[in-house]
Amino acid sequence: APATPSVLSTRGLTKSFGGVHAVRDVSVGFLEGKVNGLIGPNGSGKTTFFNMVTGMIKPDSGEVMQGERSITRWAPHRIARLGIGRSFQLCRVFPRLTVLENLLVAVRPTSLASALLGAHHAPTVARAREILARVGIEHLEHAEARDISYGQQKLLELGGVLMADPRIIMLDEPAGGVNPALIERIATLIRELNAEGRTFIVVEHNMDLVMNLCDHIVVFDRGRPIAAGVPAEIQSDPAVLEAYLGV
Ligand code: ADP
Repeated sequence: APATPSVLSTRGLTKSFGGVHAVRDVSVGFLEGKVNGLIGPNGSGKTTFFNMVTGMIKPDSGEVMQGERSITRWAPHRIARLGIGRSFQLCRVFPRLTVLENLLVAVRPTSLASALLGAHHAPTVARAREILARVGIEHLEHAEARDISYGQQKLLELGGVLMADPRIIMLDEPAGGVNPALIERIATLIRELNAEGRTFIVVEHNMDLVMNLCDHIVVFDRGRPIAAGVPAEIQSDPAVLEAYLGV
């Protein structure tokens, strides 16, 4: 059988901050239609890598490819328009807007003004309600984001990502700081969205979740990929154990 194509890949991607080599010469590919995991110890370069792939920081060198096309140095909004969405490690929601308003402003920042003025575009509101139901927080529609739990804020942020209907969803620690019941909810949601054909790339420290959720995992250590494979391969890879345990 032919290899599953890489929907998103990098070639020699590199970024330093002063003397710190955050990401060093990384060439990796993520599989279309799969839940891809990206793991590694703290400081191994995962967030920097995400930020380069989504255009939020510019690489020193190397390429980011969507299929055969280079999207290196594209601005974040242009990359988003290709159908690549992302969430952030520290959940980004507007604390004093309601849950529903947060989804309305997620469509485009200019809609912030209309959201605040209460002048909502009816089809957008309908879509936002559909997505709130999808992520399971429709009952919180009128609550201010600051008043819902952190896990619910994570679901809200994912809802904001879904407003753009992305084909590729990059999640930075979706389970970080979230209680176990909601972690299960988030995992189920990722599986359902993946079954619809959306590709995921997930950075996560919760190893049970990573091993249960991911089809394919890339492991970073000190800015470099040190292993890639299915969960069983990663779990028994001596280089991975060494990276985590420092043995
Ligand atoms: P991870 O997400 O795997 O924890 P990061 O990408 O956040 O790793 O960090 C990789 C390395 O780059 C770390 O040593 C970190 O301190 C450094 N780093 C990341 N961002 C910056 C920055 N904006 N300025 C300076 N150093 C940074």
